[in-house]
Amino acid sequence: MTQSPIIIIGAGLAGVTSFYELAARGMDVVLIDGEAQVAQGASFANGAVLHPSLPDPWNNPGIGWPLLASVLNPLAPMKLHLGQVPKLLGWGASFMRNAAPARHRAITQANYHLAQYSTRQTDVLREALGLQFEASAPGTLKLFHTAKERASALAMAQLLAPHGLVYQALDREALLAREPSLAQAADSLTGALYFPDDRVGNAQVFCQQLLSHAQRLGGELLLGAKVTRLHTQGHRVVGVEVDGEFRRGQVLVSAGVGARAILAPLGINLPVQPAKGYSLTLSTQAMAGPQLAHPLVDPRLHIAVTPLADKIRILGMAEFMGHDRSIEPNRLRLLRQFFERLLPDMAAQLDWQQGEAWAGLRPMSSDGRPFIGAAPLDGLWLNCGHGHLGWTMAVGSARLLADLISGQTPAIEAAPFAFSGRRL
Ligand SMILES: Cc1cc2nc3c(=O)[nH]c(=O)nc-3n(C[C@H](O)[C@H](O)[C@H](O)COP(=O)(O)OP(=O)(O)OC[C@H]3O[C@@H](n4cnc5c(N)ncnc54)[C@H](O)[C@@H]3O)c2cc1C
Repeated sequence: MTQSPIIIIGAGLAGVTSFYELAARGMDVVLIDGEAQVAQGASFANGAVLHPSLPDPWNNPGIGWPLLASVLNPLAPMKLHLGQVPKLLGWGASFMRNAAPARHRAITQANYHLAQYSTRQTDVLREALGLQFEASAPGTLKLFHTAKERASALAMAQLLAPHGLVYQALDREALLAREPSLAQAADSLTGALYFPDDRVGNAQVFCQQLLSHAQRLGGELLLGAKVTRLHTQGHRVVGVEVDGEFRRGQVLVSAGVGARAILAPLGINLPVQPAKGYSLTLSTQAMAGPQLAHPLVDPRLHIAVTPLADKIRILGMAEFMGHDRSIEPNRLRLLRQFFERLLPDMAAQLDWQQGEAWAGLRPMSSDGRPFIGAAPLDGLWLNCGHGHLGWTMAVGSARLLADLISGQTPAIEAAPFAFSGRRL
């Protein structure tokens, strides 16, 4: 067990789960965030799905040309903004290197193991602590419109089935039997894959609840406090500067898209860039008739719909445009049109004026895997770069990290997520 306190930078999913896991092992922990509340970054209004069924990095083989062409298409589902190209050269080269089929497959499998472990551990934690975060277990439906989409979704499922992924291939009739609310869109759909082990839950509420458990275990919380610098002595990180004051301790960086800037002055080039996504949350309290029972995922458009306790969340898209979090009305229009095409009866009953629009920045590593474990300096740890999988992987990543810090043998292989020795 470590003696000096562990200072955690960033109170999103990665930071709050680490805070809890380390406190639960009797460690002295401090959680710091520049915001006034926890989960104000990417963890605020995300897609709310724990989906081990989607562990594949977004640099799938063949991504190169569509991504380059997206520079000219203002509404491409995954869009590269021209002004970002010079800033993304190094990261982009690594992104493309890791799009090679063999590497992409290997990373998908490693991600799956962590995602599956994490989803199970989230259930365990929910039951152990009695957490209530709008959790449910309906599974998800990955929809397809063409035979080609079906073939590619099936190939991914078949790759992961030997590792434990459970799925059912549904033709149109079976899809409608499982999700009758899709009846009006039946003609445009050829079928779906159903993933029964995926889960739903509100990440922000989860963070708030887990936070209070960690505080009860003795963890210290410092909000509205930005870390401006890490202090080193020789090859060791010895503390942080926060609000002009020095605090001594080991440091865990779980700062989402802020991690890169924190590490750069130490000569550590963390290949994590922001991939902006949008969500639109609408109340379903006044809705009559059949409700949506499962989250729906359209991989072609990078759009999904998630039913939460008394609301629906429509989300998606990825824009590489730096740290910009502005909300582009045309993007919201795309989310709405997607929903209207799929579920017109429900769409007509929603009060779109009252929808809560949000944009968040996914911390995307260039190879599609998070960084979990020791950093290249002593006294420095990482839990960041989870991209589109940060909710799915949160509890598992924190448990893995806590095992590494406390010298215990992790339940899953740690090497794929280590910073050192990684081919980026
Ligand atoms: C539209 C959208 C939908 C998504 N849907 C899903 C989904 O359905 N399932 C899923 O698994 N994942 C999903 N994700 C991804 C997931 O939300 C993220 O991977 C996850 O929230 C990242 O968590 P984090 O803790 O690493 O980062 P964040 O939640 O961004 O937290 C980082 C924190 O660090 C703080 N910080 C940064 N720098 C400093 C500093 N110098 N000093 C103090 N504090 C600092 C920030 O204020 C912030 O609070 C989605 C993301 C988006 C954008």
